[in-house]
Amino acid sequence: MKKDTLLTQVGRDPARYSGMVNTPVFRTSTVIHPNLASYEKRPPEGEKIVRYGRYGTPTTFALEEAVAQMEGGFRAAAVPSGLAAITSALSAFVKTGDHLLVSDSVYAPTRVFCERQLKANGVDVEYYDPLLGAGIAARMKANTRAVFCESPGSLTFEMQDIPAISRVAHERSAVVLADNTWGTPYFFRAFEHGVDVSIHAATKYIAGHSDVMLGIVVTNEHCWLPVRKTITEYGFSVSPDDCYLGLRGFRTIGVRMKHQMASALRVARWLQQRAEVKRVIYPALEADPGHAIWERDFEGAASLFAVVLDPVPDPAVAAFVDSLKLFGIGSSWGGFESLVTVIHAEAYRTATRWNPGGPALRLHIGLEDPADLLADLEQAFEALAAR
Ligand SMILES: *Cc1c(COP(=O)(O)O)cnc(C)c1O
Repeated sequence: MKKDTLLTQVGRDPARYSGMVNTPVFRTSTVIHPNLASYEKRPPEGEKIVRYGRYGTPTTFALEEAVAQMEGGFRAAAVPSGLAAITSALSAFVKTGDHLLVSDSVYAPTRVFCERQLKANGVDVEYYDPLLGAGIAARMKANTRAVFCESPGSLTFEMQDIPAISRVAHERSAVVLADNTWGTPYFFRAFEHGVDVSIHAATKYIAGHSDVMLGIVVTNEHCWLPVRKTITEYGFSVSPDDCYLGLRGFRTIGVRMKHQMASALRVARWLQQRAEVKRVIYPALEADPGHAIWERDFEGAASLFAVVLDPVPDPAVAAFVDSLKLFGIGSSWGGFESLVTVIHAEAYRTATRWNPGGPALRLHIGLEDPADLLADLEQAFEALAAR
């Protein structure tokens, strides 16, 4: 089956649920057993069996199976947020005395967790240049247990050579974790490129409608048990309503992302021609330094990219952002609506320097007609010039 067909099939089984097209929302805490023997029987570890609300319901399992199947992973576990997916996956693999390599381009709260929680627990966290590829060999230590990637970085958009990093890591028996929120299971089949644990803020494109917080950890067979056990032991549990919304959104990720990518390319190319713009950082553009890796490894691009303006005073940047009508000012992305934020990555980098040469904005392109978005950006450039 091609992936668009698969998206219509995964995570549902009408024959099991009175012919219902979608897996229904199952709400429960307690699951009643027919007899004591059934209640006391311990299911094999890591198996998806309904036995208590916290361990998941058929709604949870439907979402998990759908995402795992689409990405080509072994199994998946849903957690209450993308950040919970990151922290539980990291906690599953690094312990006191271990060395952890983290890309310098990671999502800022990932870095905060490493700095505050992992370091306090005696993990040796080291940040690496996201562009070093096979050069990561020089950073590996005898106790390097895991390498954390995020490609492209969701703020600064450096493409990482994940296959090269994975080859080195696997030679040293280290686990490769990747935050694949930008790539999604639809555009980046992480496991085919050497990732062992693929992490998604399903809050973004998977749910796709800016109405739910949700995370998903997908693993290969080898990494499943440590991840499942860690999530279970921390007590993470997701509401079946949120799982339902996640799966409902995921059903249409293909049409949304293809459409949003086409719009994002149109807006990005238009921005490239503007006199006020220094450069656009978007791996889907031919001129982008990460384009070759993106083209080799990815099947498409998220509609999230950066635009660097020629230097102007801060009030001019604020005038530009504040005058936008169709771009909301706010966190998150991957929904149906366009968004804008200002990038301040220079503030927390440690292994590399982020110096884009001018004010940098992050744009998320939603499902609006791109002609309207261009008109909105055009009038914002007028507001910028008027400052
Ligand atoms: C938003 C985001 C997260 C965190 O997801 P939440 O659901 O907001 O916790 C993790 N990684 C990336 C790249 C993100 O953009």
